[in-house]
Amino acid sequence: MTDKYCVFGNPIGHSKSPIIHAAFARQTGEDIEYTAIVAPTDGFSDALDDFIASGGRGANVTVPFKQEAYQLATRLTPRAELAGAVNTLVFSNDEVIGDNTDGFGLLRDITVNLGYPIEGKRILLLGAGGAARGVVGPLLGEGHESLTIANRTVQRARSLMQRFAHLGHVTGCGYDELAGHAFDIVINATSASLNGTMPPLPEGIFAPSCLAYKMMYGLGDTPFWTFARKQSVGMISDGLGMLLEQAAESFYVWRGVRPDCAPVAAMLRDA
Ligand code: NDP
Repeated sequence: MTDKYCVFGNPIGHSKSPIIHAAFARQTGEDIEYTAIVAPTDGFSDALDDFIASGGRGANVTVPFKQEAYQLATRLTPRAELAGAVNTLVFSNDEVIGDNTDGFGLLRDITVNLGYPIEGKRILLLGAGGAARGVVGPLLGEGHESLTIANRTVQRARSLMQRFAHLGHVTGCGYDELAGHAFDIVINATSASLNGTMPPLPEGIFAPSCLAYKMMYGLGDTPFWTFARKQSVGMISDGLGMLLEQAAESFYVWRGVRPDCAPVAAMLRDA
């Protein structure tokens, strides 16, 4: 029987995950079905129960349910526990196991696919939501010089700073505090581009050979993308690599087989 997986989000129409997992399944010969499910913002728990009752074996979780998924999981992997957010669920023997593959995906894309080392770098992370929480721990393990988390709701940036302070040099602030500072890696982990906007960033935050990385793939020239290009950054990336690498890691968690992301990246870029 075909095993059922899905991605929960709201909105979810933009998600490439069903196409990616279908490609992974073809490539590896795994018999799975993967759909996108829009859950009401106050109805994620019910939607999850319905999917499990219908025979679902696992799920991805995206905006805005990652922290709720963390609360609902009956067991957490160490990386999900560290993140305080869940993007991958496994349903097994009445257990809902929460995992987080976002940090793995981002690190693999930056350090392996883009060949950009993190060691000794000044990193700016924009946003303090579920995606940001998933990547802070893994970023801090790579020998960075400093990690600054800036967020619209400053308190959320500060609580992330406190949560991860024991792992390395990390600060939390508002966007107005960034003026006069430059960074080697700037990662946009906000969902602002879903509304066609970007955080209010001052000019001069990109150091000359800076990597500008937007996590949100698939919206074309977002305001952050345009802003980064105008500042002449060293390298710019649109998050497709992270999307594929975190998906491949979820696929590996569910099926025990690791797909090759390169042909799927080529397919999506061609499309
Ligand atoms: P959450 O809803 O958990 O968090 C959203 C974040 O964006 C918060 O920090 C929020 O700030 C901020 N934000 C929202 N609107 C604005 C705005 N207009 N101006 C400034 N800040 C804003 O979402 P996630 O963290 O789960 O996801 C964030 C983004 O990352 C999404 O676009 C998602 O698609 C993308 N993503 C991409 C991945 C990939 O593989 N490429 C993997 C994971 C996520 P506040 O706290 O003030 O509300």
